[in-house]
Amino acid sequence: MAGTGKFFVGGNWKCNGTKDSISKLVSDLNSAKLEADVDVVVAPPFVYIDQVKNSITDRIEISAQNSWVGKGGAFTGEISVEQLKDHGVKWVILGHSERRHIIGEKDEFIGKKAGYALSEGLGVIACIGELLEEREAGKTFDVCFQQLKAFADAVPSWDNIVIAYEPVWAIGTGKVATPQQAQEVHVAVRGWLKNNVSAEVASKIRIIYGGSVNGGNCAELAKQEDIDGFLVGGASLKGPEFATIVNSAT
Ligand code: PGA
Repeated sequence: MAGTGKFFVGGNWKCNGTKDSISKLVSDLNSAKLEADVDVVVAPPFVYIDQVKNSITDRIEISAQNSWVGKGGAFTGEISVEQLKDHGVKWVILGHSERRHIIGEKDEFIGKKAGYALSEGLGVIACIGELLEEREAGKTFDVCFQQLKAFADAVPSWDNIVIAYEPVWAIGTGKVATPQQAQEVHVAVRGWLKNNVSAEVASKIRIIYGGSVNGGNCAELAKQEDIDGFLVGGASLKGPEFATIVNSAT
């Protein structure tokens, strides 16, 4: 890894689970042996955050999968940053491709959410990534840089941000990016930050990869110089496999 922080592995449980299955997953995670030198975060669906927070080891921090763009109030169906903090949540995933492409969230709105969450003290897992047709049209860097710029325009500081590069064609498809494909984009992201934010932020920030990471492919990916961790969907629902991914830090 090239970022100077710890290896960072997040489990994005998405819209999965029941009280029973989550209780089993938490108990598997509690009994797993996790490398000490890795930041580990899980993101349960909102309604299970309390259950997870009250039963999971302190070793693992809790993330939300989304947050509202400002203070709470008359925003039906939304959850505010203040409410998340009230439940001991430390992180929020913003700009996930499922929110961009299924729900229709736009760059500027996502940037504002990140700005608000950071100003209120939450850490942000800021997701970027291109669609297959964008990659095929040679637009991978343009798309990632535009999404990054929307974050850069809105955030007060980069201290509490982890960038997740998640090519949309690799998410939930079983089609993982090759280590070289991921490394190439991570280097470009670091370069963009150096030119547009600061050399210090570029050298410190953790850039994690997401998209069909599993227990079998994580070790090769983790060897890449600029891969500082993972954001894991499907494989994070299996405790022992998630532990393997956490322990793949090199
Ligand atoms: P996946 O999801 O690991 O199931 O591909 C990754 C993500 O969406 O963060």
